[in-house]
Amino acid sequence: MPTLTTSVYDAEPIPQDARDEVQSLLKSGDLFRYTAPLGTPAPVTRLEQDFAALMGVKYALALNSCSSAIFLSLAALGIRPGDRVLIPAFTFAAVPSAVIHAGAQPILVEVGDDYRIDLDDFRAKLSPQVAAVVISHMRGQTSDMDAILELCARANVPVIEDAAHSLGTLWNGQKIGTLGKVGCFSFQSYKLVNGGEGGMLITDDDDVIAHAIIMSGAYEHNWQKHLTGSNAFAKVQNALPLYNLRMNNLSAAVIRPQLAEIPRRVRDGRANHDHVAARLNASPYIEVPPPLPQELRAPDSIQFNLVNFSESEARRLMAETKRSGAPVSVFGLHEDNARAFWNWHFIGNIPELPKTRAMLMKACDMRLPARLSRPQLDAIADSVLGAVATIKAPATNLQRARSA
Ligand SMILES: *Cc1c(COP(=O)(O)O)cnc(C)c1O
Repeated sequence: MPTLTTSVYDAEPIPQDARDEVQSLLKSGDLFRYTAPLGTPAPVTRLEQDFAALMGVKYALALNSCSSAIFLSLAALGIRPGDRVLIPAFTFAAVPSAVIHAGAQPILVEVGDDYRIDLDDFRAKLSPQVAAVVISHMRGQTSDMDAILELCARANVPVIEDAAHSLGTLWNGQKIGTLGKVGCFSFQSYKLVNGGEGGMLITDDDDVIAHAIIMSGAYEHNWQKHLTGSNAFAKVQNALPLYNLRMNNLSAAVIRPQLAEIPRRVRDGRANHDHVAARLNASPYIEVPPPLPQELRAPDSIQFNLVNFSESEARRLMAETKRSGAPVSVFGLHEDNARAFWNWHFIGNIPELPKTRAMLMKACDMRLPARLSRPQLDAIADSVLGAVATIKAPATNLQRARSA
């Protein structure tokens, strides 16, 4: 089996501009976003301004994680204990966790073999008790947002986009994260922009941003330092709890110069994905679901379904590729996987979701960062295809080995 000369978990170096700014912040010790006087935007404020401009929205709020952004979105929309919040059953455990954090009950919606929300189940579960919908664009795969937005508009239910893995994705030419009422992004190291940890909440809504800023920990009059120009703060002064989910200046300094890298990472990530997808799709045992026609993706990983694979064969694929530097993980077979809904014991009663379960038992996940070269991508594809061939034709391979 070919071994990869790189690990798909290795990061790109942090740009020099970021390292210079970190050095100067370390020298001055100016790490807290609210230390700078009112007229001098802190590094966190400048990141927010740049990110809002990049996304073409009125407001951005930098936070310590995307999970915090989802939680604050729910809190800012006035979600109350006992409210129901629809989420896809295929997402990261942080999403139902954010709903629980807001005191609400996550309602899991079925997800199909193409990793996208099952619209019949979504329609059926969008009851009058539903107070908000969180759409996770899981692994950057976009569900049918035209249908979802229309259904939610008709039901008068706000949509929060969990775009943690969708920075740079377009839907009908519009930036993912700007379709719903609020968009949430992650700068955790396995996402497109690497801040170690970090998150961003974006919105055009004056009330949402005022609530979110105050609850993020803008105590006293620190909301003024966000330079939003919104006049919705006066009515919520001292009225909201402060959860202290702020970003610090060091994270902002690491993140901000990477915004300029986004177009390259999106372009290369998509080309890498499509190259490996085409190679894998040549195997009769592998199926990479195509993007939806409205979608222009920005992937940094690849997902594919095993076709006519037994559970033990799928387990062998995981074992065979483990040594290669590009391990394949089958979501539902990887023990305690945080993306398998049956492991979310903290939500209370876990419903039976046969479609999502069937998908998770055959859906494979593999990181495919933008920095990989063509030979590295080919080594990854060779490793997967080689393992599939070994598993599916053991007798033939054995004969070949004997006659060699
Ligand atoms: C990573 C991720 C999150 C959580 O982001 P954090 O910044 O680590 O909190 C949420 N949703 C999805 C789809 C993710 O991939």
